Amino acid sequence: MEIERIGVVGAGTMGHGIAQVAAQAGFDTRLCDVNEDLVGAGLDRIRANLDKGVELGKLAAEDREAALGRISTTTDLGELSAAIDLVIEAVPESLELKRATFERIESHCPPGTMLATNTSSLSIAVIAAALSDPGRLVGMHFFNPVHVMRLIEIVRHEGTRSEFVDLAVGVGERMGKTPIVVNDVPGFASSRLGVVLGLEAMRMLEQGVASAQDIDTAMELGYRHPMGPLKLTDLVGLDVRLAIARYLHEELESEAFRPPEILERLVDEGHLGKKAGRGFYEW
Ligand code: NAD
Repeated sequence: MEIERIGVVGAGTMGHGIAQVAAQAGFDTRLCDVNEDLVGAGLDRIRANLDKGVELGKLAAEDREAALGRISTTTDLGELSAAIDLVIEAVPESLELKRATFERIESHCPPGTMLATNTSSLSIAVIAAALSDPGRLVGMHFFNPVHVMRLIEIVRHEGTRSEFVDLAVGVGERMGKTPIVVNDVPGFASSRLGVVLGLEAMRMLEQGVASAQDIDTAMELGYRHPMGPLKLTDLVGLDVRLAIARYLHEELESEAFRPPEILERLVDEGHLGKKAGRGFYEW
């Protein structure tokens, strides 16, 4: 089986970026959202990203045109599903919504169509259980912003057919990403490791080991992280991190993921990070 046509469901933060890298990689790409305004907004964001690429000299003007020429849009999920080799779902992080969306996709697509979800935390197996052929679902976890971040986590649940894991790796590589293959465990590889580092940094701050800036500098200069764990938490949002920590604490039954008091307190006080003007830093 060859993947040539990719359908992206959801044209938001992640979906527009996935459609962009798919089109730039030469895939015939179809982007879908629930109404024309949303799908149009996704396309505008793709245009803006590509324009910026041309402006910075990273992209030739003809490549911008070629990529845009490969993208079409629709608000009809059935139509999208019927004529596509791979559907990548990027709707909001709700188990019910994802399961319902895949049920609809599967009712329209041919038996050979490969399905992927961009979930950042939900169980792939539980989403797949909504399908009559769960073996065709794989996790393709992209990172934000999709056109910049090079990692893609390919997540296989126990029933995922190995041909689809191989195809997902190939598609990721063709999009210019570096794929890693991970089993379907809470937090996959990236969130599990990234979150535990951030939580330990918070505990160190609580214990007065060093200032937020100095803890971050330790990782930036000592370990060549592009950004320290506390600054990164400010960018992601303290509320988002707290929700993930609670989920991983419960699922993995590990004290390493128990949310630190300082995180609970800052969230209670509304200091949610950069978006709120204050988190571990003032912004
Ligand atoms: P978002 O809210 O920006 O976009 C979701 C889009 O899906 C919206 O435009 C919405 O209208 C659309 N949608 C909802 N139901 C639909 C349907 N039935 N058919 C078509 N479109 C539909 O969300 P996002 O941040 O792009 O997140 C999408 C997924 O990616 C989530 O599972 C999230 O966990 C995951 N993710 C997000 C990030 C991030 O940094 N934002 C990073 C990695 C993974």
